Amino acid sequence: MSNSLLADAGQRLEQALKYTSLSEDAIASLKYPKASLAVSIPVRMDDGSLSVFQGYRVRYDDSRGPGKGGVRYHPSVTLDEVQSLAFWMTFKCAALNLPFGGAKGGITVNPKALSRLELERLSRGYIDAIADFIGADVDILAPDVYTNSMIMGWMMDQYSIIQRRSSPGVVTGKPIAMGGSLGRESATAMGAFFAIETIVPKFDRRPQDTTVAVQGFGNAGATIAELLFHAGYNVVAVSDSQGAIYAQSGLDIPKIRQFKNNARSIKDIYCDDTVCSITNHDVLSNEELLTLDVDILIPAALENQITEANASQIKARLIFEVANGPITSTADQTLEQNGIYVFPDILINAGGVTVSYFEWVQNRNGMYWTLDEVNQRLRRKMVEETERIWAIAQSRFIPMRTAAYVHALERLGEALDAKGTRR
Ligand code: GLU
Repeated sequence: MSNSLLADAGQRLEQALKYTSLSEDAIASLKYPKASLAVSIPVRMDDGSLSVFQGYRVRYDDSRGPGKGGVRYHPSVTLDEVQSLAFWMTFKCAALNLPFGGAKGGITVNPKALSRLELERLSRGYIDAIADFIGADVDILAPDVYTNSMIMGWMMDQYSIIQRRSSPGVVTGKPIAMGGSLGRESATAMGAFFAIETIVPKFDRRPQDTTVAVQGFGNAGATIAELLFHAGYNVVAVSDSQGAIYAQSGLDIPKIRQFKNNARSIKDIYCDDTVCSITNHDVLSNEELLTLDVDILIPAALENQITEANASQIKARLIFEVANGPITSTADQTLEQNGIYVFPDILINAGGVTVSYFEWVQNRNGMYWTLDEVNQRLRRKMVEETERIWAIAQSRFIPMRTAAYVHALERLGEALDAKGTRR
């Protein structure tokens, strides 16, 4: 297990357990995923051939409620990765006090290489394969890396066909027309923004004097970059999987989003005022972006970006993890020794699953909220839990990540112990 992501995630658990008085039973229950399903998904391709894809769904723990977590489509998806992501979801839902356990799914596929119809057949095939393992009171799906509301719509529809009844509660992040919630699309970034706005004043910083680098320009990365830009932060660097751009005087994020929407990669942005009004920028690699001398670094792409290999070169003062698991546990130690504050994924990117919870509640009630209502509730939750975790970190002299795990563990421990001996 030594090189596994799940083993590395387990290190965080060990670290936090030192600061809790969890029962032996509760600790033992949290060490392994409750159930892992691996499936093969045959898909008829447009050229008539048959391709078989590997898919997974993992429920890590459901002591606080049904499993909850997204589905990732990526060529590097493995069972180990999905198990770690399900582990993080368990702690994320508990840290935010959502009535859910943690789960995750994934398919090993490069979705960019599939046509829209192939993608639809794959998504429906995945639901056919895992239908007995999920449900609105069992395990609820959502978007993650390279999945979106369109895919969630197909998944809900397929599940409803199998069940022979409309089942919106089995999937969140759906299109609005199929019972999705307003504000879900931007929720991960919006939640991160509320947390950042709660933290930054504690360091006596003002947005206009604060430089920011964002790694990743997917839904979460692009939206957080834009929210910070509009709030007056100086966003100096952004990247996508192909590379990064950097301009000391700041980047015009809405223009970059426009450029990127035309399916071009960020590194190809050229200095033409009519196109992007970004002058004097440098093209960097993703690795170079991470080590820029900025006030705030936001990894918003994939896991394992800051490792033992580059942790000592990180110069940012504050790191906000919008991605899941971008920093390894050994890198955490180096960053801490260097006085860098890390604000962990299970808090910072929890806005996504929080609005997923709101969507699930709306589906069950059949009453729908305004965008304002969603965002106000999200803000309240993010600010409240950020302050609680900050207070734990301050009073016990522990890093924010450990504090977030301690906070989550206390809630998980209570639920596990309340269940008694038959788990
Ligand atoms: N995939 C997102 C996450 O990692 C959202 C999960 C959800 O909404 O269930 O938090």
